Amino acid sequence: MAAVRVGVVQETALGERRVALTPDSVSRLQGADFEVLVASGAGARAWFPDEDYAEAGAAVVDTDTLFARADIVLCVNPPPPQHLRSGQAVVGLLQPLLNPRVMADLAERGVTAISLDGLPRTLSRAQSMDALSSQANIAGYKAAVVAANAFERFFPLLITAAGTSKPAAVLVLGAGVAGLQAIGTARRLGAVVRAYDVRPAARDEVKSLGAQFVELKSVEGAAGEGGYARALTAEEQAAQQAELAEHIAKHDVVITTAQVPGRRPPLMVTADTVKSMHAGSVIVDMAASDLGGNVEISQPGETIVTNNGVTVIGAGNLPAQMPTSASTAYARNISALLQHLLSEGQLAIDLDDEIQRGVVITYDGSVVQEATAKLLEATS
Ligand code: NAD
Repeated sequence: MAAVRVGVVQETALGERRVALTPDSVSRLQGADFEVLVASGAGARAWFPDEDYAEAGAAVVDTDTLFARADIVLCVNPPPPQHLRSGQAVVGLLQPLLNPRVMADLAERGVTAISLDGLPRTLSRAQSMDALSSQANIAGYKAAVVAANAFERFFPLLITAAGTSKPAAVLVLGAGVAGLQAIGTARRLGAVVRAYDVRPAARDEVKSLGAQFVELKSVEGAAGEGGYARALTAEEQAAQQAELAEHIAKHDVVITTAQVPGRRPPLMVTADTVKSMHAGSVIVDMAASDLGGNVEISQPGETIVTNNGVTVIGAGNLPAQMPTSASTAYARNISALLQHLLSEGQLAIDLDDEIQRGVVITYDGSVVQEATAKLLEATS
């Protein structure tokens, strides 16, 4: 039986430096089941040269050849739909809930769209495929490093002949995957770290990293479905903002990572709260996006210095700033998903499988993933 031909695209999104497969992952996939094509230059910005892919057994081809010959196109960000053809599959972080129309277009073209961000994250057998977590982990690390870089004092306690420098006080809001990695990284840099999350289960995880958990009186635990937080009511959110403001004013660095899936990020740090912070403080808003962020005045991909001297960094694409580690983790996730999608050496779509029900967005000319189909219905 012929091997399935997978093709690794050259990413074209602005600032994107990740690549869907690394040479290492090519040598693991290449073989009986898979034949790998790689667009020339696809890994260059993550420091994986064409020669390494060729040595690992991939055929390095130009982009037109790649789209023409691949059975399954592998990407990080969605490629232009017009490059894909009927009978082809595309696997990546397609963000179907942000791009429902693109998904409808792919369905019409007869393309099978498979998106890693639809993975049911609480299933333990899906963990090896969890690209949202692998990338959030990298982003959390980088957020702490970016914060330390922008903070113009030491993070650790330093006792030297020239005097003593007290450790930076860091507050992390939201202790999910990114938040926990930001906590660990800030601790490793020597800061005193406190963290807050609405899910009561986060308390022990925060403490296990050697950080203090901030308890708020205003909001009862807000655990939602599938291990995620629920969205707060407007009253709860206002009370949370007011109580958090007192804590934020006492910290040098604030890293925000709060999100509820499918909702706009909760607003936790108001413009007034930023005004109450001391000059030289730093905020990194990991949730900053075109839909808004956790910080009222943050702008995605931009750094603002306020009149009272607070540096507010709206995180852009942080994993793309660590493209070697991010691509290595992503390649493992996408390879694990590919193996899962294969049966007897062929791509076998089975919507009765819980993992596939989450990740398969379009199949056989229709949008089949429930959340995306519902969104399209609501907006048509
Ligand atoms: P996650 O779901 O694992 O964690 C989010 C946490 O926020 C959860 O623990 C949740 O309980 C908490 N939360 C939700 N509402 C809250 C509230 N009102 N108050 C306090 N805590 C609340 O998500 P993640 O994968 O860690 O991602 C975190 C954020 O970082 C998201 O906004 C995500 O989009 C963003 N992110 C950004 C980048 C980047 O490069 N900029 C990369 C990865 C993730």
